[in-house]
Amino acid sequence: MPLRTFDEYEKLAEQAHGHICAGQILGLRMALYGLKLLELDDPLGKHRKRLVTFIEIDRCATDAIPVVTGCRLGKRALKFRDFGKVAATFCDLEADRAVRVVALEGSKQRAREMYPQIADRNQQQMRAYREMADTDLFSAQWVRVTLGPEEFPGYKAARVVCAECGEGINFKREVHSGGRLLCKACAGERYYTPL
Ligand SMILES: [Zn+2]
Ligand SMILES: [Zn+2]
Repeated sequence: MPLRTFDEYEKLAEQAHGHICAGQILGLRMALYGLKLLELDDPLGKHRKRLVTFIEIDRCATDAIPVVTGCRLGKRALKFRDFGKVAATFCDLEADRAVRVVALEGSKQRAREMYPQIADRNQQQMRAYREMADTDLFSAQWVRVTLGPEEFPGYKAARVVCAECGEGINFKREVHSGGRLLCKACAGERYYTPL
């Protein structure tokens, strides 16, 4: 399925995110720019298995990006790296190239200058972000993403059991520690404390 119209993407983003907002517009534009730079125009169809997206923030824009790219967490095609930046890297696995797109700092100011008559900031930014040129909204940089095959879609590996807690671990996420196979939690990366 080739790329949709921007209006159609807005409707899909609104459904996925629960409301439409400036962050959605920015996320849609960011993903469309990434695909344009990669010259991929059928992310949900014939280019479906080529794309992996890294997202660097967990805000509104984050939800809009998979609406365009089709990259989902459950397909291992969406990666979250919490850097607190409105940025994403779009990887074309087949062409072996990747582009990182970053929202420019000045875009809110630019929206104020473009539409001073719109008092509501969200409305003002939505309007401006729909219309601004890609290069006024974003900077882009070609990058290399070096990750093991276990990070990419389609990877399979034997399931192992943690020597400490006994829980099963998939896809080579185990850690070798002191001659034992441990899950990341038992190896010290636990984000929770058992009560
Ligand atoms: Zn939002
Ligand atoms: Zn464990």
